[in-house]
Amino acid sequence: MLEEKKKRLTPVSELGEFGLIKHLTEKFELKNISSRLGIGDDAAVIDPNNKKIVVSTDVLAEGVHFNLGYVPLKHLGYKAVVVNLSDIAAMNAVPTQILVSIAASNRFPVEAFEEIYQGVSLACRHYNVDLIGGDTTSSNSGLVLSITAIGLGEETEIIKRDGVKPNDLLVVTGDLGGAYMGLQILEREHTVFLANPNMQPEMEGYDYILERQLKPEARTDIKKILEELKVKPTAMIDISDGLASETLHLSDQSKVGFRLYEEKIPLDTLTITTAGEFNLNPSTAALNGGEDYELLFTIGPEDYDKIKNHPDFTVIGHAVEQEQGNHLVLRGSGQLVPLTAQGWDAFLKK
Ligand code: ADP
Ligand code: MG
Repeated sequence: MLEEKKKRLTPVSELGEFGLIKHLTEKFELKNISSRLGIGDDAAVIDPNNKKIVVSTDVLAEGVHFNLGYVPLKHLGYKAVVVNLSDIAAMNAVPTQILVSIAASNRFPVEAFEEIYQGVSLACRHYNVDLIGGDTTSSNSGLVLSITAIGLGEETEIIKRDGVKPNDLLVVTGDLGGAYMGLQILEREHTVFLANPNMQPEMEGYDYILERQLKPEARTDIKKILEELKVKPTAMIDISDGLASETLHLSDQSKVGFRLYEEKIPLDTLTITTAGEFNLNPSTAALNGGEDYELLFTIGPEDYDKIKNHPDFTVIGHAVEQEQGNHLVLRGSGQLVPLTAQGWDAFLKK
């Protein structure tokens, strides 16, 4: 820690805005043929080659979406890219380019930008996307990161939120609630640290859920898996705000209701045991926690056999007529309770 402090940090003014951009971006290469012109001109050029262009953007603000008290800048850069790629994956398109815009106060030296871009670079390599531009500016306080992701897909491949029909099955990838439990561990240890900076954080044994929170991955692999299984979902969305909230989005846009079975929600054992430590029902973490970045989709009942044995997929419910509403079927009792989205906001107000 002390050693770290002694290192001389470089103020951004030493490089200037243009020098900083050049310094951060010069190692990025264009890998996709659709990236015709990247950083350095007034705008980038993309060649969609007869495909449809899918675009999405997200802003992450310090103190609102992340806490630099326990989120390393490199992870922040990685995660900021991933959450955008997840939106492209949720359209069943292939992410190809990103633009990264940063506003930072003079509290952030060149080295801080370097760390963020290490994360951005890692994500670009891992997901085979090209950094083709962005914007850099100063802010009066704090750090704001805005990323735009671009993807390509055939018109017939693109999957929206509005295609669910009654009796369709509701399917989720991976497991849920881990990112939220990881956040609880980080916040607990951060509070302990603030009270006594000499205390060592107790993070051992929590690796999986910490990674779910700090270094989530986008399910860009699902498109190919579905193609191989010859399954085309009727609707799809990514889980950024929690299973309940996303299910209600599908319901809203498709004009159907859902029955969601609590006992079917896929949970990792570490999520279950950690929820126990916090006296929380792990299903609540899955339903309302968010940030898992798994995909939630619906398929026609005739496709059930094609996905039922696949380890990446779990059927957690089915669509009903809109008039029947949205309900959670409780584990054990089988009691129906209305599905409500508390999402993220409720947790912020706690
Ligand atoms: P302009 O004044 O025309 O907006 P800039 O000086 O902001 O141009 O940007 C010059 C080039 O650098 C552009 O290609 C822009 O997309 C790129 N760029 C600027 N900031 C960033 C950044 N933070 N990350 C990646 N590329 C950036
Ligand atoms: Mg600019």
